[in-house]
Amino acid sequence: MSKSIRNVLVVNAGSSSLKFMLFNMETETMLAKGQVERIGIENSLFTYETNGFSEKKSPCEAPNHTAAIELVCNALIDANKGGCLSSFDDIDAVGHRTVHGGEKFSAPALLTDEVIAQIRDLIILAPLHNPASLQGIEGCKKVLPNVPHVGIFDTAFHQTMPEESYRYGLPTALYEKHGVRKYGFHGTSHKFVTQKAAEILGKPLDETNVITCHLGNGSSISAIKNGKCFDTSMGMTPLAGVMMGTRSGDFDPAIILFLLKQGYTPEQIDAMVNKEAGVLAMAGNGSSDMRDLVAARDEQGSKEAKLAMDRLVHSYTMYVGGYIALLGRVDAIIMTGGIGENSDKTREALLDRLAGLGIKYDHDKNVELRFGKGGLLSTEDSTIPVYVVPTNEELMIARETFELLSK
Ligand code: AMP
Repeated sequence: MSKSIRNVLVVNAGSSSLKFMLFNMETETMLAKGQVERIGIENSLFTYETNGFSEKKSPCEAPNHTAAIELVCNALIDANKGGCLSSFDDIDAVGHRTVHGGEKFSAPALLTDEVIAQIRDLIILAPLHNPASLQGIEGCKKVLPNVPHVGIFDTAFHQTMPEESYRYGLPTALYEKHGVRKYGFHGTSHKFVTQKAAEILGKPLDETNVITCHLGNGSSISAIKNGKCFDTSMGMTPLAGVMMGTRSGDFDPAIILFLLKQGYTPEQIDAMVNKEAGVLAMAGNGSSDMRDLVAARDEQGSKEAKLAMDRLVHSYTMYVGGYIALLGRVDAIIMTGGIGENSDKTREALLDRLAGLGIKYDHDKNVELRFGKGGLLSTEDSTIPVYVVPTNEELMIARETFELLSK
């Protein structure tokens, strides 16, 4: 690369939203952030923050992703809006969060026409997410045509899984013909906290064994062996694994056949298991949010909320316990994501269930380590140390973009 990379714009495009953060990579500081919501819908909303300046504007002009990214770039160079940059030329690279990289991408990739075509070929595996990523990529390429664009894949970190982890007990032809296997998601977050954990533990990354618990509205737990993903709870899609805010997590797959025979359509079942299941389905208060669940259980004494919490934490415990067995030696358990970083009640419930394995934690620290504050949660005599490590997926995307282009 002829031009040195200083400022990296990170873009995370959804079907009707586009979140962004701008980083200075010399200092790894965030210069600006915000999002455009309701893209292509009336009353689009633009939220922007930089240099002490902030604005929330609705309606704004965002009929498509190209217009949305134009809005972002124009704000970045607007002297009346904090004047973050002097011109578009100050953006040296763009890192795009891309959900599904299939088996093709085990590392960040420069978004050439060929790579974009490969991401398009993977739409079959991520019918909701990859089209949105592509809209973001294509919009940004139109607005910033002379800048390198890099795809960072949520699935890439998990590509190191051995076949015994990623293959299902299904006919090999399904794997070979249709790519039916475990891919895993949240890879950028699992990678970020794994690297942080190695730093905290003072161990070389390639000798670090950890269990990373990314617990949020969507959740996944990974077993990391020698710094690489050995297994992860999500599957071919993000539906598998632990129970989540609106996703069921694991359940008997024959239930789907049963429901089809009962006359439910595939679309109804899809919506039910992805958007209407999990905490939302069980809590009985119409919410998938952990704060509401804890309040319903502890303040309103809701039995349904208690059952939902117990079921949730039961599923976490099964994965953490199973991964301890798979790894043999575990240097640390890491809690991250909106719930892992903030919900002391959920951590308490999980760690209490792990007490039989000699895992012990400090109750005061559990309450203290919240709202972005990370640190050691376990006591000295715990068989496995437990840490809260706030994740930073955007910074990881910026770093990976920077590293690829600086090679
Ligand atoms: P994420 O998907 O990682 O943004 O996480 C969202 C989840 O984190 C939601 O269930 C929130 O209720 C939960 N969460 C965020 N902040 C808190 C908090 N202060 N206490 C408990 N749960 C929280």
